[in-house]
Order: sequence, then C-alpha cells, then structure tokens
Amino acid sequence: MEDDSVEKASTHRQPGGHCPKKAAFRATRLTPTVFLVNEHSDIYDERPFIYVKTISSANALLILDTGCGGATDKPDIKVTSLREFLETCDVEDNEGKPLNVGGKMQYVVVLSHCHYDHILGVEDFALDSPILASQHSPSFVSPDHLPEHSLCHALHIKTPKYTATLVPHLHTIQADYSTPTPNYSTSLGVVVHHTPGHTPDELTLWDESERMLYVGDTVYEWEHIIFPKEGSIVQWLQSMDALIELVGTSEARICCGHVTAGRPAKDVLTAAKAFMMDVLSEKENVRSRFEKRGEVSVEYVQAGSRFSLICPERLVVVARQKVLAA
Ligand SMILES: [Zn+2]
Repeated sequence: MEDDSVEKASTHRQPGGHCPKKAAFRATRLTPTVFLVNEHSDIYDERPFIYVKTISSANALLILDTGCGGATDKPDIKVTSLREFLETCDVEDNEGKPLNVGGKMQYVVVLSHCHYDHILGVEDFALDSPILASQHSPSFVSPDHLPEHSLCHALHIKTPKYTATLVPHLHTIQADYSTPTPNYSTSLGVVVHHTPGHTPDELTLWDESERMLYVGDTVYEWEHIIFPKEGSIVQWLQSMDALIELVGTSEARICCGHVTAGRPAKDVLTAAKAFMMDVLSEKENVRSRFEKRGEVSVEYVQAGSRFSLICPERLVVVARQKVLAA
C-alpha cells in the first residue's frame, strides 16, 4: 500500500538532523483547509480517519477525533503522538511543512463519539485545549460510564482522562471556550449536528462553506457499519433522514470515521439508508450470527459488499417493529 509519496508524507525530520522518523499517521489534503490524517498501523486494525481543519483567521486547528493513541506493533514507527505528528512531521501536501509548525496554532478538538478508536489520542490535548462532545446524552459520556461505553473496559485498556464541553444540537464551533469568561465571538464556521444512532453521543460536523459533512461512525462504505449494544437503528434512520435533508441537492461530500472520505454525500447517505431498509424488510439475509458483549449479534453483507452491518439482533427486531409498522 505504501508508495514513495506516502513514505514522505509520514516522515519526520528532526531539526538540523537527517534521521527521518516514521509516524503512526499520514496526512493528505482533502480541501483547501482540511487534511485527512490516517492512523494507518494501529494494533486494533481500526485505521481511523482524523480530520484537521486549519482556520488561519482564528489561528486555530479544528481536529475531529484523535485516533487510537498511536498504539502500534510496528517497531519502525517512532512518532506515536498525534500532537507531535501535527507539530513536527513534514507533510508533502502542506508544502512540505508540519500542519502546526511548533504548535503555534491553538487546538479545538471535537469527538464524533466516545468509542476508543476516536478518543485514545485525546490526552495529548486535554490539558490546554477545549474538547467538545455531544450534549445529547450526558450520562452516556459521564466519567462513570465512559470505560464501558468507550469499549476501553471490554478491551482491557486504560480509559483516557479528559473533560469534555458538551455542546447542543446546531452549536457553531468557536475558537475559545475558556472559563470563567468564555469568548464565543470567534466562530470557526462549522456546525455540530446531533446524529445519535451508532451511539447516543454520535455527532456530525457540517462545514457549509466547503459543503463537507463529517459523520464519524454513522456510516461508511466497504467495512461493516457496526452498532454496539448501546446503539439504535431507529435513531440512526432519523439521523440519516436529517443528514439527507441537510445536504439537499448540493454537491456536498461526506467524510467518515473510517474508509470513506470525500465521496458524494447524498449518494452515500441514501444508498446506506436503502441497505438498512433492505435489512429491516428482510430483502437482505443474515450472513452470520454470533455472541458479542453478552448479546446475539447478526451480520448482513450487501451483494458487492459496499454496505455491510454488524449489530445486536435486538436492534434489528426493535427497528422492524417501530419503523416498518409506522
Ligand atoms: Zn464507533
């Protein structure tokens, strides 16, 4: 998979030195302001997509998700901190410079939801930067419940420590969340939409000026869409309808937490919803059935494998009752 340009993009050069260090991340340009940062060699095989938007007018970097914390079993990877990567690793698509040279720009971090592969890198930023998350279900992301709901407990890994600022539906992200005198006057131009379904705290970012939608784990192509036992297909369908309406007939593109980045938003959203309706109406057949976290889970795979699903069977049964009967 790795060609020469990829090696260059993920290579770190020490100041004045000639010894390149390989990073757990590689960055490529998606839009005039946004880079896709892929954590490519994590031990969990999640290969999460992290999005980094530069807002020069606010001297800020908006980061969506923080990946798996650099956990890798590749001994040649020396840069495992996302923050160190952003501040010191040269990126070819950024005129050969790091995305945040010397950490001169401040950070605003948004978590699409609290699953481990989106939050394990957050401690790099938690001491000096705002960490934003959905206010939709405060108890779901409370410190008492985070080890279970992040899946860190199930994986026997330490739950990262951070304090999130929970933001409401349709919140416009700001550059400054400092207390006790918050200054909400510097809009970063990106709006938070609550999109529960994958989890109660799942959110979407809508960057209207670039017509880009960042949906976390709500949907992606070519890998299983996974619902944990805390998910809801009923809520997911409502969130999908809201996103389909949000992008309207525009040329919006969709960027997901895994696999899919920069694809036509309306097409991905409507095709994923159609697949789910085929699951509910039994046009799709169960591919496999197995136990996961104490519940019977089911797997569905669309012909051609563009969309596939793994979730507790209970979520399908409940959605059949509520959605098909409606
Ligand atoms: Zn997730």
